[in-house]
Amino acid sequence: MEEVATLPQTRWQGRDRAATPFYAITPFTMLDFPGHTACIIWIAGCNMRCGYCHNPQIVLGKGTIREEEAMDFLGRRKGLLDGVVLSGGEATSWPGLVGFAQEVKAMGFALKLDTNGLRPDVVTQLLDRRLIDSIALDYKAPRAKFRDVTGVTAWQRFSATLDLLCAQGEIPFEVRTTVHDALMDEDDVLAITRDLKGRGYDGVHVLQIAVIDPDRPTLGALPLQRRDWDLAVLQERAPLSLVLRQQ
Ligand code: SF4
Repeated sequence: MEEVATLPQTRWQGRDRAATPFYAITPFTMLDFPGHTACIIWIAGCNMRCGYCHNPQIVLGKGTIREEEAMDFLGRRKGLLDGVVLSGGEATSWPGLVGFAQEVKAMGFALKLDTNGLRPDVVTQLLDRRLIDSIALDYKAPRAKFRDVTGVTAWQRFSATLDLLCAQGEIPFEVRTTVHDALMDEDDVLAITRDLKGRGYDGVHVLQIAVIDPDRPTLGALPLQRRDWDLAVLQERAPLSLVLRQQ
């Protein structure tokens, strides 16, 4: 009988060992993963082009940190941190995310995913394998303005992720919207909260006012906001609890 050679099963199989998927690591945060002391791993690259994005260097640039360097860092943080936030850029646009999450989870860390929702297939894999303990989803804009705000035609994919997350009842899940008055108005925010309510979401809707710093260019070179947002009206009319958070 012919002998079949088997490849050694290393953790690198199917992944590029020389690649540098990570732009940076924030070694400590108590704010980004509620209830956890965590670090943030910033994954380079993104599948959106939001005008107010403050991180063009992460979205358009290359990473500088290899997977094994990140694993070494996490190995040294065992017992000091209990969580890891996978952020970016867009974490789900990195093909190695599920394998990496599996390894980090096996080290005993809780995982939080920050996502723009364009990869329902990746979110499904993470949920099915029980790798994620918390998710923050950016709901960028209502359907009619989704392309203007994000630079991509991908509403259906975002909508699929939102349905997926609303249907699962196990993992804490938060929805956030960043607003700039050159892109959206109060009616758009209310359209988002109504859509969330209609899909069965009953958490808070976090609103972040885009802060434009003339010395720090955004992806879309947006101007300063021209007016204040009418938060009182929004909070009165929104069918969900609307919470303002500083960026
Ligand atoms: S703000 Fe938009 S472009 Fe910037 S990282 Fe987030 S999803 Fe990508």
